[in-house]
Amino acid sequence: MKVSNNPLFIKRRVISFIILFVVIALALFAAQRAYRWYIDWQRYSGIERLEGKIKSGQDLFSSIIETGLERKQANEILNSLNGILDFTKLQIEDRYQIFVKDGLVQKFIYEKSPIDQYYVVRDEEGRLRAFKPGIELKKETIVKTFTIESSLFNAINKRGETDALVFSVVDIFAWDVDFNLDPRVGDTIRIYFEKYYLPDGKFVKYGRIQAAQYGGTKTYKAVYFPAKKGYYSLKGNPVAKMFLKSPLKFTGRITSYFGRRRDPFTSRHSGHRGVDFAAYYGAPIVATSKGSVTYSGWRGAYGRMVEVRHTNGYKTRYGHCTKIYVRVGQRVSQGEVIAGVGSTGRSTGPHCHYEVRLNNAVLNPLRFSQPVKKPLKGKDLKEFKKYSKTVWSKLF
Ligand SMILES: [Zn+2]
Repeated sequence: MKVSNNPLFIKRRVISFIILFVVIALALFAAQRAYRWYIDWQRYSGIERLEGKIKSGQDLFSSIIETGLERKQANEILNSLNGILDFTKLQIEDRYQIFVKDGLVQKFIYEKSPIDQYYVVRDEEGRLRAFKPGIELKKETIVKTFTIESSLFNAINKRGETDALVFSVVDIFAWDVDFNLDPRVGDTIRIYFEKYYLPDGKFVKYGRIQAAQYGGTKTYKAVYFPAKKGYYSLKGNPVAKMFLKSPLKFTGRITSYFGRRRDPFTSRHSGHRGVDFAAYYGAPIVATSKGSVTYSGWRGAYGRMVEVRHTNGYKTRYGHCTKIYVRVGQRVSQGEVIAGVGSTGRSTGPHCHYEVRLNNAVLNPLRFSQPVKKPLKGKDLKEFKKYSKTVWSKLF
């Protein structure tokens, strides 16, 4: 009798197959869980400001979910506002901001109007507390210089200011300075700004930055001109440009430039039609210019992709996203969050592939010359020169 026909042997073989199968299944399950933890861990690092507004037919909860914040934390914000903000009186176009650090909401500001605002802040015990600041806030105007040693956040935190101020600085220079790439050790930022306090001296919020200078490889100067509601260079040129320098405000770093490169999949040399910004999973991708969404969904090697059409024949593409927050036909404004960073399609790690096209020819997103916005002229320019002289003299 052959050994392999022995019923006991067959039984043993079946059992060992089952054990092997279970072990492989468990190993696969464990690997998948570990991968998930890794993604979560990646997602919950860094600092973000999420912005939103109430759209038609939306309540605050559904609006917050659209910014990419998880449901649990959205609920936490809403619970803290109970009895302080009347949820039945929310209006379309009401705006809010959410500041998130390492995945945890630190601050929420709901703005019905500049004097009708609601604040939620995380206190020392780690709980969110809501309050409505009265209009009797005390204002202080200050000039400070920040020197970059490691990051813009560190430079500003080190001088006793909070992350909210970092975002205001970035908002002024985001057209000229790519905060992923450009800031170097030794760069200085000097700003003239406002701070608001409660009567008991507790700091509440920053007001507008009135004047700012970024001193790096190039020097950029900006003064806020109330008459035109915008920042202008001392010569009267608008600081705002048609395109932001980067679709990621400062969480990303460039891993692949425009032009020739080796394809990580085929190892063949091919042209790279955009710029890759690496960032953690879920990092917000913003539209670099206003326009309307012409593509939203899966597109071959791009994975999940958003394409936005702008004026003058320009288009931008954002590839490898995890989540997309916009639909085809939707209007988006400059700096609006449209998707989250992912690794879908032909991608080896979480990053945003960013492309700029003009009449379907690809441009180098870091180098192309942007259409110039109209400078101030005539009476406006004269008025601005006079105004900016006073403001600038406070800065230096
Ligand atoms: Zn790419």
